[in-house]
Amino acid sequence: MCVFKRCYLAALLSLVLIFISQITLSQTTQKFGIVIHGGAGSILKSNMTPEKEADYTAALNNALQIGYKILENGGKSLDAVEAVIKFMEDSPLFNAGKGAVLTEKGEAELDASIMDGATLMAGAVAGVKHVKNPIMLARLIMEKSPHVMMIGEGAEEFGKENGIEMVDPGYFITKERWEQYQKMLKRQEEKKKAEKHGTVGAVALDKNGNLAAGTSTGGMMMKKFGRVGDSPIIGAGTYANNNTCAVSSTGYGEYFIRLGVAKDISAMMEYKNYSLKKAADEVLAKVGKLGGDGGVIAIDKDGNTAMPFNTDGMYRGYYLNGGNPAIYIYKE
Ligand code: ASP
Repeated sequence: MCVFKRCYLAALLSLVLIFISQITLSQTTQKFGIVIHGGAGSILKSNMTPEKEADYTAALNNALQIGYKILENGGKSLDAVEAVIKFMEDSPLFNAGKGAVLTEKGEAELDASIMDGATLMAGAVAGVKHVKNPIMLARLIMEKSPHVMMIGEGAEEFGKENGIEMVDPGYFITKERWEQYQKMLKRQEEKKKAEKHGTVGAVALDKNGNLAAGTSTGGMMMKKFGRVGDSPIIGAGTYANNNTCAVSSTGYGEYFIRLGVAKDISAMMEYKNYSLKKAADEVLAKVGKLGGDGGVIAIDKDGNTAMPFNTDGMYRGYYLNGGNPAIYIYKE
């Protein structure tokens, strides 16, 4: 009897040990990480001062640290994406939130979107002028409204009712953007080259294997009042699906809308069994062929990443578990 009892206890103990080791194993093998962009465009080393480069590198690094910490502590990819984008919206360096580019009327009109790869829930906001952090309003729309996308006044009213911080439109306009705007008003010729990029985006994979993506922007410099780009369009600027990948786009939005870039990358993986890299490269090549420029960042369900672009540069970086943060600006 005693021997039997001992055997029984030993078996129970080994079962518990196996169970614990399985959990630890799945925790250590589950990849997680974050990939970010701060816009693509004519970003040349020759146009950059060492100070400016250092500022961008520091901001990108801070953004990566914010996202990584959330993921490392077991937080949700959605929370990491939102926190990173909020940080970049608050930075005057990027074309999102404070520091956004201006419309031809000299105002900031902001667009943003977010998507949860686990549920395919999504939220988007376009053409808002008083919302300090459009990415937070996009998430609110996703979680607290029956809708996916809201625009202008209605979106702002919904945000106000739900405690989203509003600011005076002047808050978004930095000295640098105002001077740029004034210069462009004088030199109509400059307008054509004026597509100032600098949109921000983040994609993340968390320890539970959930993917999320988000994008936020002021759009294109000197855009028409009322113009909406790809950033708030689910499937163009942002897409996430746990079965495939999470994508955030930046670039000449009209082309990204016409090609449904973010969803197309996911679809290539789903229907053609492409790797993330192959899908992202192929879709970006289509953008180029059509005459558009820009780039995407993406992470797949296995933690593979891709950051292709067809411009001179793209502010970008990633921080994956088991590695160090990596930041790039130019073509490498
Ligand atoms: N894609 C954004 C837009 O078209 C701009 C950008 O990414 O720079 O609004």
